[in-house]
Amino acid sequence: MKKIAILLCIATGLISCGNKKDEINLPITRTFDCDVLVIGGGPAGLSAAICSARKGVKTILAERNGCLGGMATSGMVAPLMSSTTPDGKTMIIRGFFEEFVDSMIAANGAIHPLKSEIGSLTAYRDKGHHGLTTFDYECFKKTAEDLCKQAGVELLYHLLFVKADTEDNKVTAAYFATKAGIWKITAKTYIDCTGDGDVAESAGVPYIYGDGNGDIQASSLFFTVRNVNKAAMDAHNEECKKNNDFEGQFYMREILAAREAGEFPIWRQKIALFENLDGTYTVNMAQNDSVNGLDPKQITDAEITGREQAAIIVKFLRKYVKGCENCELGSTAEQLGVRETRRIEGEYTVTAEDAKNSVKYPDPIFCCANSMDIHRKGRVEYVARNTNEPYYVPYRALLPKKIDNMLVAGRCASAERPVMAAIRVIPPCFAMGQAAGTAAAMAVKNGVSPKKIDSNELVSTLKADGVYLP
Ligand SMILES: Cc1cc2nc3c(=O)[nH]c(=O)nc-3n(C[C@H](O)[C@H](O)[C@H](O)COP(=O)(O)OP(=O)(O)OC[C@H]3O[C@@H](n4cnc5c(N)ncnc54)[C@H](O)[C@@H]3O)c2cc1C
Repeated sequence: MKKIAILLCIATGLISCGNKKDEINLPITRTFDCDVLVIGGGPAGLSAAICSARKGVKTILAERNGCLGGMATSGMVAPLMSSTTPDGKTMIIRGFFEEFVDSMIAANGAIHPLKSEIGSLTAYRDKGHHGLTTFDYECFKKTAEDLCKQAGVELLYHLLFVKADTEDNKVTAAYFATKAGIWKITAKTYIDCTGDGDVAESAGVPYIYGDGNGDIQASSLFFTVRNVNKAAMDAHNEECKKNNDFEGQFYMREILAAREAGEFPIWRQKIALFENLDGTYTVNMAQNDSVNGLDPKQITDAEITGREQAAIIVKFLRKYVKGCENCELGSTAEQLGVRETRRIEGEYTVTAEDAKNSVKYPDPIFCCANSMDIHRKGRVEYVARNTNEPYYVPYRALLPKKIDNMLVAGRCASAERPVMAAIRVIPPCFAMGQAAGTAAAMAVKNGVSPKKIDSNELVSTLKADGVYLP
């Protein structure tokens, strides 16, 4: 009965039906149709859309913000985490990610990961911080839009996905809240790149939130500071390194003292400033624990607290950190940095044991060496690996259970928590996006579900498109 009512409702151009007081009926004001619909234009989504459109299928990319990049731009996350082997010597996340970085370099908007030396660019951290990509936020946005345009992606900004219709294990339509009412987009294949698995959840795909028992990693609002004396900061760093004074290098004693004095009510142990191309520094030191990144009210509160923390941190830097005596707040991100929400249950879930031991799969889509780190209140928990070999992610981790015409790429793909804590960083998200977009186009061209494409053909196509799969 409910199904008939929904069908009737859609036939009449309404997004929902029912006459309960807590439901609303809204007319659909515009419709679109395409082969591949990518929802969410962060690192995973923009890669998926560009790689799909390049294969000649009609691709729409729907994004709720007014720019592409997700956390990398609206969240002001920087730099792009490691895309190399742990020693920083060989770039292993390549393919479309490498092309994107090269395009930013050509526009003077990035430093190649193999040229980013340990120093202020990497916030002085050796472990896990080789092979970073320092980049400019504006250049990232423009590069993403240019490449979308060249590939023929139809970009639709200011569309917030709110609901999916499903029938016979397939998504049949996606609905978006817009300033101009409800818009409906239909596609042959849907790719969920919302970071939160919004589309998958709406379509009934099973998922896990955080650790599965309510625990969730901390969130952080990024911001920048200007007027930093780089020479003084670097000199302090060198001095501490010479004296093996790790705590001094990261001002850990000062943070403790400031916390005791009531000047630093933030659960961070170390300073973390990353030098940008324009001489400003990105600061990753704010922290909100237990924020549910799916709840707008909690996100709002955390953003407000994040800006309060930014002011506190600037005060701390001016008082304690050499070279920061005259620093000032540059800008704060417009969007809270949410590390963790949903991870879908896929046809395969990459386990921590797989990643620890570099298990090989028949359908690898990329390999990486990012560290598995879980951000908790007051500490970061590192999960050790048993080998230095890169580890792999299989195509099946992008294929959700229950729904046959959908792929999920980025922070909400199918991996155990420690693995997602590693592959959620931006370069692996690019790699997942490339695989999802390529696979979606193959599925459309062959008239089959993404679950039925030839994964050998996918792997050889990815390799031909520059993906490094030794
Ligand atoms: C505090 C913090 C620090 C980090 N530090 C680093 C770092 O130093 N280096 C690094 O490489 N990575 C870092 N990361 C990780 C990285 O930024 C993200 O995990 C990565 O951007 C995820 O990419 P994504 O494409 O899956 O999702 P996102 O970047 O979150 O992009 C998702 C996109 O989908 C859109 N969207 C979401 N929901 C909807 C909807 N319902 N309708 C329409 N659009 C929607 C969003 O607006 C966004 O554009 C950090 C993350 C956090 C939170």
